[in-house]
Amino acid sequence: MQAVVKSAPLDGDAGTAIRDCPIPEPGPDEILIRVGAVAICGTDKHIYHWDPSIRDSVRPPRIYGHEFCGFVEQIGERAHRQNLQVGDYVSAEMHVVCGECQQCRSGNGHICARTRIYGLHEDGAFAEFVKVPASNVIPLDPSIPPRVGAFLDALGNAVHATQVVDLAGKSVAIMGFGPIGAMAAAIAEHCGASEIIIGDVTEHALETARRWAAGRKFANLHEFNVRAQPAAAIHKKVEEITDGGVDVVLEMSGAPSAINLGLKIVRMGGFLSLLGLPAGHAVTIDDYTRNVIFKGVTMQGIIGRRMYSTWHRMLALLHSGLDVEWVVQGTYDSLSDFPLGMASFDRHEALKVVLFPEGEEKAIQRVAASQGLARSA
Ligand SMILES: [Zn+2]
Ligand SMILES: [Zn+2]
Repeated sequence: MQAVVKSAPLDGDAGTAIRDCPIPEPGPDEILIRVGAVAICGTDKHIYHWDPSIRDSVRPPRIYGHEFCGFVEQIGERAHRQNLQVGDYVSAEMHVVCGECQQCRSGNGHICARTRIYGLHEDGAFAEFVKVPASNVIPLDPSIPPRVGAFLDALGNAVHATQVVDLAGKSVAIMGFGPIGAMAAAIAEHCGASEIIIGDVTEHALETARRWAAGRKFANLHEFNVRAQPAAAIHKKVEEITDGGVDVVLEMSGAPSAINLGLKIVRMGGFLSLLGLPAGHAVTIDDYTRNVIFKGVTMQGIIGRRMYSTWHRMLALLHSGLDVEWVVQGTYDSLSDFPLGMASFDRHEALKVVLFPEGEEKAIQRVAASQGLARSA
């Protein structure tokens, strides 16, 4: 089968090869999935550039890819699950957890210390086929187009960041309008946020936010270029808009200045969902006394997706009309186009880039066929 492989510990095309690999053999508890669509993520970009942050996790040769959807091809001998048969349209949670530690056994598998991420620690989905543990497979409704099914892993991050706090009627600030920030904005609007405040460092991102809000006829969008405008001026404007401070901050950037701005603009007793990773791990908090302690804020770290309440909520949100298809701004009908897709993602031309190993038309046909299969069962 064709696969996109991190072939050597080098930056760029020199360390990545598109080549023929053996089709994985599913073990007794695994399911082999034919990949229908697979999305490029920021993590893939770090692997592609061989950034120091991922060097301890990835051992080349390693097949890329942890955001995908596809079709059940083969079921391991012990892997039978109710309502899952060959041909079914599925995605998968690619964080594989131990199931034995205290976190796993108390319903907190998303913070299992022994997490293995497929597409990072193990081979992933930038291939014609991928095998995953049967328990991680998520059946998908055929109403979800494969270009959206491709990035449910990432959408799940945004859903997780928003499921820990009530957004209805709340003012919500989103720091960083990259793919996850954009999805978080869509969720906030869908869930009835009263005001959405976007902070980003590029005009291109803010323009995308404006176009999205106009398309949704959402009038209460306020966007700030946090590089061009002084933090004090933004703080003052946000206090006017929100009558004293924003209720919820969704921190998607990891930039220390954005984390501090979030702490400044959040209201007394407000909530911060923190998902962005700072480049250097450490962050200095300005005026910790006033902005954290005296304000009585709640800060919640967000990692991965809760297994599997985030998936259930995400599928329910999509079913109720959450529209995130617009974040797909680049598609390619072959795995061979990975370098083109990565270049476009790297230049921030596309929020999400999706590749279809057999072409998008074929993936849509397979979804339709799986629907027929469900009806006849
Ligand atoms: Zn990802
Ligand atoms: Zn565990």
